Amino acid sequence: MDMRFPRPDQFVDCSPLLGPRNRGQAAADTAAAAASQVERHGFAVFRIGALRLDEHPSRDIARLLVHELRNALVAAGAPERLEVEIDRAQQTPVAADFAVRSLLPHHDGQHASYLTPSTLDVPGWTPAQRTFSDSGFTTTHVHKLYQGIFVSAPGTGLSATTYYDWLRILADVRASRGGERAGSTPEWLAANLRRCLAARETHGTAYPTLAGMLGVTEEALVTTPLLHCEDLLPQAAVRRFPLLSGLAAGCACGRCAGPVERVFCHAVMLAAGLSWPDFRNRYEIIAPSERFDLLVGNNLTMLHGGFAGGRDRVIEPLCLTLDRPEGAAYEQWLSRAWQRRDRLGSDRPASEQLVAESA
Ligand SMILES: [Zn+2]
Repeated sequence: MDMRFPRPDQFVDCSPLLGPRNRGQAAADTAAAAASQVERHGFAVFRIGALRLDEHPSRDIARLLVHELRNALVAAGAPERLEVEIDRAQQTPVAADFAVRSLLPHHDGQHASYLTPSTLDVPGWTPAQRTFSDSGFTTTHVHKLYQGIFVSAPGTGLSATTYYDWLRILADVRASRGGERAGSTPEWLAANLRRCLAARETHGTAYPTLAGMLGVTEEALVTTPLLHCEDLLPQAAVRRFPLLSGLAAGCACGRCAGPVERVFCHAVMLAAGLSWPDFRNRYEIIAPSERFDLLVGNNLTMLHGGFAGGRDRVIEPLCLTLDRPEGAAYEQWLSRAWQRRDRLGSDRPASEQLVAESA
């Protein structure tokens, strides 16, 4: 498979925090550098691990940097109400018979955090349609604009976080499905989300699925959450949709290892005309991390996942959130977030070129 890695500038040097200067100012400058990478390319990695400090001082630096990142993003146009949220540590549950776990592309807290149109671009959209459900979720109820993880233990697998440019995927899939005839990509996504919200009423779905957001209409795929590649499908979903058993038995590429991963392979084939390995080839960027690194990304215009994480990997979520995704400042921020790829200009081809290849 082809593998694509972040651009060198997306790895942010944190050594100024140990220098002779005032630590607060050094943190503000370092966070500003990361914020500009997040604004341009969707995510950045603070290389705190390279400082070779112990766990507590490393975590203190991560939290200081998240607060400074919040300030830098607000200075760049994020809503003033943006808050830092420090969530409980997350383990890495690995399915029996598997050595590692991989997580499919998702938004963190997807029941209340997913990309929607700004009302400035799609006037018929309402802020209430940004909260999918208030049950069946694993994180808090707030709307996460940016998500971050502090890697407190990298574990015995790969400590690799995967990123996918959701704006690019939406534009590509819409074009491939003939959606460019009328309207805009935000309007197209709005129509897909409305279909997901309607299916929620029938099936009690906890969050909008990737298949649903990409315009797939098969109810079994629109309503079944798919996250842990190696897991069995939820029993209730299989009872409701016997089709899922067949989809889990064999996927489009014949190479996916777990039941959930095989169903997802069908879903992206149906949505994008690509098997899951081909989808990864086209869109996935693999961000490696070492112990105590801090990864941060836009949680709405990017999807992220995890590749081959070991049982003993532990991450601590550090997010930038809003209690309610509404109001003029949010709509302006969101409308601008949709324009990220348009602002890249001549940078774009370089960001998508292959950096390395493997078998
Ligand atoms: Zn497959």
